Amino acid sequence: MRSEAIPTRAPRPEPHAPAQERVLAVGRRIDGSLPAHGRSPGGWLDEALMRVCACDEHLRAALFRFIDVRPACRNRRELGEHLAALLAEARPASCAGRVAATLARSPFSRQAAALAAGAAAQRVAHRFIVGSTVPHALASVERMWRDGVGSSLDLLGEESVSEGEADSYAARCVDALRVLAQSARRWPERPLLEADSLGRLPRANLSVKVTALTPAIRADAPQRGIEDALARLRSILRCARELDAHVHVDMESLGSRETVLGLVLELLAEPEFAAGPSAGLVLQAYLRDSPEELEQILAWVARTGRSSPLTVRLVKGAYWDHEVVEARQHGWAVPVFERRADCDRNFERLTRRLLSARPRVRVALGSHNLRSIAHGIACLPLLGLEAQDIELQVLRGLGDDIGRALAGMGLRVRVYCPVGDLVQGMAYLVRRMLENTANDSFLQARARGADLERLLAQP
Ligand SMILES: Cc1cc2nc3c(=O)[nH]c(=O)nc-3n(C[C@H](O)[C@H](O)[C@H](O)COP(=O)(O)OP(=O)(O)OC[C@H]3O[C@@H](n4cnc5c(N)ncnc54)[C@H](O)[C@@H]3O)c2cc1C
Repeated sequence: MRSEAIPTRAPRPEPHAPAQERVLAVGRRIDGSLPAHGRSPGGWLDEALMRVCACDEHLRAALFRFIDVRPACRNRRELGEHLAALLAEARPASCAGRVAATLARSPFSRQAAALAAGAAAQRVAHRFIVGSTVPHALASVERMWRDGVGSSLDLLGEESVSEGEADSYAARCVDALRVLAQSARRWPERPLLEADSLGRLPRANLSVKVTALTPAIRADAPQRGIEDALARLRSILRCARELDAHVHVDMESLGSRETVLGLVLELLAEPEFAAGPSAGLVLQAYLRDSPEELEQILAWVARTGRSSPLTVRLVKGAYWDHEVVEARQHGWAVPVFERRADCDRNFERLTRRLLSARPRVRVALGSHNLRSIAHGIACLPLLGLEAQDIELQVLRGLGDDIGRALAGMGLRVRVYCPVGDLVQGMAYLVRRMLENTANDSFLQARARGADLERLLAQP
């Protein structure tokens, strides 16, 4: 599942891990900067809604189908009838779901139930989505910037099924870059967000999904997807170069990895992009072969010698369930680690390898796990690096508190901010809901009040 154009290079020796005491000290400092009094009542309501939706897949499916049909309903009566029909069909398993179905069944409470369901969906969406359009999102991202936190906009909508959809996504990306860059010119100076020791960092930053740039993604024929998406991503990169903006290409499920990697590396190696724009890609630590993938990327960086360093955002990976189920269904070897500790250890190993590869790459860690973040920060002095040599990225709605705490400690933080409406964002919302309520996730463990020392223990 790998681009054959990229030769593997022998890995360099792995830098030493920081001492546990050092990681603990950093972790305690971050924890001490987190809000002390828990969530606001509104935040508590969001959590409760998320938990109900995530635990009851039938209720969740009904709610998502309701979101889908909502714009087509002409009045409250129709809205209520649709909700009642969807809940009756879905047969929710949870107590809250059964109460909702009962309320929707009764003609006396049906409309109120439909309004409540609509309001609940809007609440959850508002938590994760920064605005329905880029102009609507601008006020929030400017506020974040003024508060010392950067952003990366992500236009919701993935997996285009036609050339027309892919063209339209690429055009939306170009428009978004123009609107964002124009607005960003008026933002006040924030030196920490605008430069690191390798040079200037663009204010405008857009994350892009390759499955939205081509309907031709095929795991067994990656070149088809690359050829189909090439012109579209090229137009986005040209626009970013002209506007001095950053383009980050997200990584999705393994079936598209070769296309994503091949496309990004092929385009960025073109002479016209040798000096810019600033660009980046994503490495998923849950993949067993991610260390080899990183060596390929580093070999490519060394070979191409672009003057604008490639940013690598290290994440654990958002498609764990999908990868496991798909591999088992086909009788393939499972490509992801199956124990959390193995994934977390690999994340730390890759963090050290990436940091040691500076200045050839810029390093961004995308995680809400205090241990993973503290480990990355604790590595800096061991490698002779400064705080500005790492970027910490969080997702809007999940990592807001951690992001604010890190920014307050003088670290560079960027919030990943989806833009779009509820219907476009459904796949994204499902991933975030599952992530936020997974029993073994760091955020859940913390929400349950797990002991800090245990959360910061070596994986
Ligand atoms: C700014 C930002 C950008 C992101 N961009 C992307 C992207 O482009 N592509 C992408 O795929 N993801 C992306 N993610 C999501 C990311 O991959 C994680 O899903 C998410 O951040 C949760 O990881 P964590 O370190 O915060 O939490 P943790 O609770 O520490 O880890 C949860 C993660 O562990 C892994 N995991 C869960 N169960 C197991 C198990 N049994 N065995 C082994 N591993 C397991 C999964 O990857 C799961 O997401 C992004 C995240 C952020 C913050």
